[in-house]
Amino acid sequence: MTHYLAAEIQNNTLMRKSALSVLQGYNIREPPVNVYQILTDQEVQVDFLPFRNSRLEGLYLRNITGSGIAVNSNHPRPKQRFTAAHELKHHLHDVPDDGTQLPPCLSNARTHIERKANAFAAELLMPPTMFQAVIDELGELLTITTLSAVFHVSYEATVYRLNTLRYIGDGQITKFLSSTYRREDGQTAYQNRQNGNGRIAKIRVPAVQAALGFIDGGRYCNNCGALLINNQWNVCPECSTNL
Ligand SMILES: [Zn+2]
Ligand SMILES: [Zn+2]
Repeated sequence: MTHYLAAEIQNNTLMRKSALSVLQGYNIREPPVNVYQILTDQEVQVDFLPFRNSRLEGLYLRNITGSGIAVNSNHPRPKQRFTAAHELKHHLHDVPDDGTQLPPCLSNARTHIERKANAFAAELLMPPTMFQAVIDELGELLTITTLSAVFHVSYEATVYRLNTLRYIGDGQITKFLSSTYRREDGQTAYQNRQNGNGRIAKIRVPAVQAALGFIDGGRYCNNCGALLINNQWNVCPECSTNL
């Protein structure tokens, strides 16, 4: 067990470094991290396919014509973003030299390579410094619902991230994932949006303003309606449509 734990911690450290170097390379400092923009810039084709098997999250493929990923379009968009970040890890680190293809990425896979890809995805989409900055900025308006809206990730991924970064203990995960807590959290987030009460002046990060309902106007994706916070994006951070 000790060896296993050591390997796990080492993996997470490596994945954090790798994700941070990608973020620095693209000069990404604020949420949401546009993983589809990164994949496009890396010349990885992104496709969305309605896989019948709901456990099948995505695929990474490379052949002589290039690299591509396929994401399960039956899953909610925040989950699709996580899958895309997971596939980016395969693209950067896991492509076999001998031309063999990687196995499909399944939601309950416990293999080493899959765990590392999931760790990378969490590090890329919710980097520790950015995560802390948003928590500080939200202050008393912090809810898991709002935090997941800022980072454009699922509620579940946010809870697990809060645990990995030790904001919440292992024993609290079940409570925060329960439907009762989740409903209350969503109601609080909704109320916070209703009575923003002049805190807008203190909120600097555009994604936090948007999650709290403070942004009017702006540019929206024609395909999915997502608010396009960054003028330099040429693909949508939610649905990957060309802008
Ligand atoms: Zn995978
Ligand atoms: Zn879109």
